[in-house]
Amino acid sequence: MSHENEKSKLSRRRLVAAAGFGTAAALTGTAVGAQPAGAASLRSGRLRVVVVGGGIAGVATAWLLDGQHDVTLLEAASSLGGHAASVPVDVEGHDVMVDVGAQFFGPYSHPIYNKLVTSVLQVPTVPNQLDNTLFEYGMPTPLMVSPSIDRPITDLLQYLPALQAVGELMERARDLEARRDWSITVADLVEAMTVDEALKESFVYPYVASVNGATISQAKEFSARAALALAVRPLVDDRTEYVNARDGLQSVISSLSNEFTSVTTCVNTRAAGLSRVGGQFKITDSQGRVHLADQVVLALPPEPAAALVAQLPQSDSLTSTYNRFRYMPARIAIHRDPIYMPASPKDWSSFNITRDGEYCEASIFYGRLRGDAPVYKSWVLHRREEPKELLDSMDFRHPLITPDFIRAQGELQRRSGDDGLWFAGSHVFDVDSQESALYSALMIAAELAPGSQNRLRLGTLPTSPAAP
Ligand SMILES: Cc1cc2nc3c(=O)[nH]c(=O)nc-3n(C[C@H](O)[C@H](O)[C@H](O)COP(=O)(O)OP(=O)(O)OC[C@H]3O[C@@H](n4cnc5c(N)ncnc54)[C@H](O)[C@@H]3O)c2cc1C
Repeated sequence: MSHENEKSKLSRRRLVAAAGFGTAAALTGTAVGAQPAGAASLRSGRLRVVVVGGGIAGVATAWLLDGQHDVTLLEAASSLGGHAASVPVDVEGHDVMVDVGAQFFGPYSHPIYNKLVTSVLQVPTVPNQLDNTLFEYGMPTPLMVSPSIDRPITDLLQYLPALQAVGELMERARDLEARRDWSITVADLVEAMTVDEALKESFVYPYVASVNGATISQAKEFSARAALALAVRPLVDDRTEYVNARDGLQSVISSLSNEFTSVTTCVNTRAAGLSRVGGQFKITDSQGRVHLADQVVLALPPEPAAALVAQLPQSDSLTSTYNRFRYMPARIAIHRDPIYMPASPKDWSSFNITRDGEYCEASIFYGRLRGDAPVYKSWVLHRREEPKELLDSMDFRHPLITPDFIRAQGELQRRSGDDGLWFAGSHVFDVDSQESALYSALMIAAELAPGSQNRLRLGTLPTSPAAP
């Protein structure tokens, strides 16, 4: 750790300790230096915390600090949730909640998030049958159909080479997980595989690209551990242990925010300005209001976070760290027509990948997840045809997690909390998931609110793959 980092960690610790969590000696420390309102809140042990961004990272941070501090949560959109965005779809007179963004989680891939959702919040979940089909655009026969409880294994013999390739890919991914090795790229991993070269191009790269929302050339740049983490972590005895929230992931967000007692939530409120005045932060929002804070949590994707950080003096190295996080655009459509499904319904899986040159977009068939619901959730940015029965559509960005992305995460983790500025969000730890976003919130709460009542409700935390 550099001298500069040590110094700022020290001032952060003194600031938090002086807010009533540390030793008596710390209370006499001179580092706080806040103006009158800040000084008063520090003396009382309560901090004014502004959390910017109301996705799972920001909402979970606010929930963990709730009761202990006075929290203001600023969210640019009209509701909380960020990528946890659920919409009702009518299926034979009943609403099925469909997750347009994040959807799957489970006890092995998302152990802390799963505990929060199922044990603490008791949000109802439904099990998933997750299987895959991969086919070339316009071709009648798939390149791979994965085993599933309702598929006779004899029907799958023709896909044996592709299934063996998946087996080898998962073995190698498991090895990277075990070694916690982010440094090997997908291209390195795949080139070292023993399977047929033609299979690598026609099947292995397209599979990896589709599960990351990437093109084939982008997929090759990924850290292989990152690219395959959410495929290999939930695999237990060849079954993928994933569930969905029955009422959509938005129900997790509302369960958390319904419990707020000392959190003021401001939606339709974008944080536009960030400065330090004396010992406190001044945040200006899109409504022209000014929020004063002792601590600020940026629970934002790297781009909007960098735009705020850049307004602080001497922030060049932090903004250049943020600039190392690369993203790819994605558009999700929810539709009723099975436009992107394989030619024959017997080959339909829950996750159906079309390879079309560089592009490998997937279509999730809700019928295999929720009792025959004729609803599809598809990545559509590069499709030749648009869905005809469109129900909803949203634009997102997926991270392109290279080995350098992971190194940049390390820098954000080390600098989080320096002089009262904290970094939350799924990009701060591990891969892009609800688990990593929650983990980032827990790391902040451990320092700002070690006595958090909501943290206590989680009990002993299971070991998380999001831990660095
Ligand atoms: C299509 C898709 C499918 C996915 N599937 C899964 C899955 O199955 N399982 C899984 O675990 N993960 C999945 N993910 C990843 C997951 O959605 C993210 O990791 C996680 O939701 C990110 O949470 P976050 O709070 O870090 O960021 P976000 O959810 O992006 O929240 C950031 C919030 O900040 C707000 N904001 C931005 N700028 C400002 C500003 N200046 N002021 C105030 N507010 C601002 C935004 O409006 C947004 O609400 C998926 C992602 C996508 C896009």
